[in-house]
Amino acid sequence: MKVTLLGTGSPIPHPDHAGPATLVRGSDTALLFDCGRGVVTRLAAAGLVPSMLDTVFLTHLHSDHVSDLNDVITTHWVMNVAPRALRVVGPVGTAAFVDATLAAMSRDVEFRLAHHADLTRAPWVEVTEAQPGESVAVGPLRVRVAASDHRPVTPSLAYRVEHEATSVVIAGDGVPCATLDELLVGASAYVQTVVREDLVRAIPSTRLQDILDYHSSVAQAAASAQRAGVGALVMTHYVPPVTDETREEWRALARGFDGLVVVGDDLTTLDLATLEVSATP
Ligand SMILES: [Zn+2]
Ligand SMILES: [Zn+2]
Repeated sequence: MKVTLLGTGSPIPHPDHAGPATLVRGSDTALLFDCGRGVVTRLAAAGLVPSMLDTVFLTHLHSDHVSDLNDVITTHWVMNVAPRALRVVGPVGTAAFVDATLAAMSRDVEFRLAHHADLTRAPWVEVTEAQPGESVAVGPLRVRVAASDHRPVTPSLAYRVEHEATSVVIAGDGVPCATLDELLVGASAYVQTVVREDLVRAIPSTRLQDILDYHSSVAQAAASAQRAGVGALVMTHYVPPVTDETREEWRALARGFDGLVVVGDDLTTLDLATLEVSATP
């Protein structure tokens, strides 16, 4: 399997960092985790369009993680030659969010159905609201579901994708917790959203300070990775955005972890079997 960071941004707009989204591919199966700002554009850069996705997983319903689900649904719909459902797995609340998204797009759906004779039905989304402890099969890939701790965002989920001898945990947002630790044990890679506690603390904004109590600092992510003995810690969702000038500072803050530390940009790709990193998918 390979994991590609499609978007390494956060709610803070940045020209080089799309919103949170991660692609996992293996054995001709493609899984998308979260649908942040610009996800369809970044998918295209990875050689995929939404109709090529097998399942979309949502870690939680914060806007930065779901803002472009409408684009994934609509583009999946209009680019499929024959009607095919888009499968979406997420926490409780996902079905209502998908229903509201479809309602928001209803005029567009009417326009396209009226215009294209070969478009015979409205977008079709199959939602599974997953519970911690469950697992979901997608082709040959197995995805285990666990609770993450991103309170007051509840429920929020972390996922572990397993195939043959490799595995990757998509932790989403949140602070370290026992259920994440258990999910991480022995994984090939651990993708964690991270914030620079040292920099955020120095900014006199209570709204920004608030983010510290429900996101992992780099040191916390490194400690989780070390406890679980994962092969690689992959940072994403950088607050503030990582730059070439600050990249080594981020890496240095993860010094509590003995494995590979990946401080990548959008489209950085990790081969889970070899732990080779490349700048493009
Ligand atoms: Zn969040
Ligand atoms: Zn977020």
